[in-house]
Amino acid sequence: IKILSIETSCDETACSIIKNGKEILSNVVVSQIDSHKRFGGVVPEVASRHHVESITLVIEEALQKAEISPDELDAVAVTEGPGLIGALLVGINAAKAFSFAHDLPLIPVHHIAGHIYASELEEQMNFPLIALVVSGGHTELLLMKSHLEFEVIGETRDDAVGEAYDKVARVIGLPYPGGPHIDRLSSEGTDEFNFPRAYLEKGSYDFSFSGLKSAVINTHHNYSQKGLEVKPENVACAFQNSVVDVITDKAMKAVREYGVEHLIVAGGVAANSGLRNRFESLCSKQEVKLHIPALKYCTDNAAMIGAAAYQLYLKEYFTGLDLNGRSFIDIETYSTTVL
Ligand code: ATP
Ligand code: MG
Ligand code: FE
Repeated sequence: IKILSIETSCDETACSIIKNGKEILSNVVVSQIDSHKRFGGVVPEVASRHHVESITLVIEEALQKAEISPDELDAVAVTEGPGLIGALLVGINAAKAFSFAHDLPLIPVHHIAGHIYASELEEQMNFPLIALVVSGGHTELLLMKSHLEFEVIGETRDDAVGEAYDKVARVIGLPYPGGPHIDRLSSEGTDEFNFPRAYLEKGSYDFSFSGLKSAVINTHHNYSQKGLEVKPENVACAFQNSVVDVITDKAMKAVREYGVEHLIVAGGVAANSGLRNRFESLCSKQEVKLHIPALKYCTDNAAMIGAAAYQLYLKEYFTGLDLNGRSFIDIETYSTTVL
């Protein structure tokens, strides 16, 4: 089964062709980061325009690299949401046109399901499992009992962790996106601030990062007012320590409490070295099978959408040409619809 998949939910224009859910025949990603950098974040209108410019070329390149013609494909998949509506629509319209022109079934994919299924490109899922999604717009802990069966057991009540990384980076004068910069700096600093850890009520799997963000901003403000220098590497180190402590603690607790043996960590922040190292040591000690996708499959790409689409294809979850983009899609509702 060969599926062509398209992803345009944010600022990457991506197309991939994968065989049987894991064999990657091509994976093309065009990032727009340079265009958004000077604005300090993704500008939706700018993102849509870039997608329009790139989408056809990206699809053509994916076909060329895979050395495949459209009539050898079995389906077309596309990110339906969540994401920026104008950006999503570019990918959706391209997918509809492709599906119509080549008479292929059309598969709508949930972006977060895609992030989780990035792991299937490399290793098979062992159910039940816990999936932790840490990205620019999401921080969620999910329980999966079978393919495409998602149960949310915890989520952020305010900022997503990637968002917190990017905001803190801005405060200490680092370029957008700040996550990788904070990650790099944090290994050069010392934890002189001991920022708060938001564990919330006992037993809760929810997250909150707005207090931590405020602590960073206040510290920065107080130091500046006294004419003192705040070392960015020390802020980065203290911030990352707080984030890693809370996230790993909650994820490992979920693994124990739900009695699962497999933990998947996905999304852009799964590229974080502090988080990867801590999870690796905790999981090896506790004999939990850990899977964190390779860096290029953690951030937005279309191969992960294709991996999820393969499971959807097996369940014959197809849609018509009236498919619309959706900026929010509840993953549990999506799961119920599919199953
Ligand atoms: P969503 O998937 O929730 O819709 P998104 O697609 O914008 O959001 P991703 O592309 O998955 O998010 O991830 C981007 C985020 O990952 C950014 O906030 C970025 O700062 C963060 N990030 C990338 N690398 C690292 C790193 N090494 N450490 C921490 N954060 C990182
Ligand atoms: Mg992105
Ligand atoms: Fe994403």
